This record gives sequence, structure tokens and C-alpha cells, in this order.
Amino acid sequence: MSENICPKCQSELDWDGKYHCGSCQVHFNKIGFCPECNDQLEKLQACGAASYFCNGDCNELKSKSRVKFEFQQTE
Ligand SMILES: [Zn+2]
Ligand SMILES: [Zn+2]
Repeated sequence: MSENICPKCQSELDWDGKYHCGSCQVHFNKIGFCPECNDQLEKLQACGAASYFCNGDCNELKSKSRVKFEFQQTE
């Protein structure tokens, strides 16, 4: 089961530079939220691996496995 699922129709999302749902014809941004303070996390690219940093109360890197992801529709 893919982790990249359309929040509107539950179809699997394609990747074309952004996440794209072929059924809904919309693009999504994948946003990570802090498991502790719920702040939006900053995505850092390091050596091909993405890591997530909380600029909120935590002020520390978050393990990707604990980050809560949400797809937000873009125009
Ligand atoms: Zn969809
Ligand atoms: Zn935090």
C-alpha cells in the first residue's frame, strides 16, 4: 500500500514534479507536521535523503518515520 494517497478519492498519486491525482486532476504538496508541537516542518535535502526540521518549540530534526504528512491541494 502506497503512502501517497489522494485525500479526496483515495487513489494513488502520481509524481510529475508535484504529487498529482489523475482522477481528481489536481496537484498536491506533501506537508510534514511535527509530532510534538504540530508546527509545519521545514524539509531539508541532504545527500539525497530528506530530513525534517521543526522551527517551532522543538528546534530540532524530526525522524521521518514520526512525521505526520498531509497532502494540501495546490492550484
Ligand atoms: Zn483524487
Ligand atoms: Zn515541534
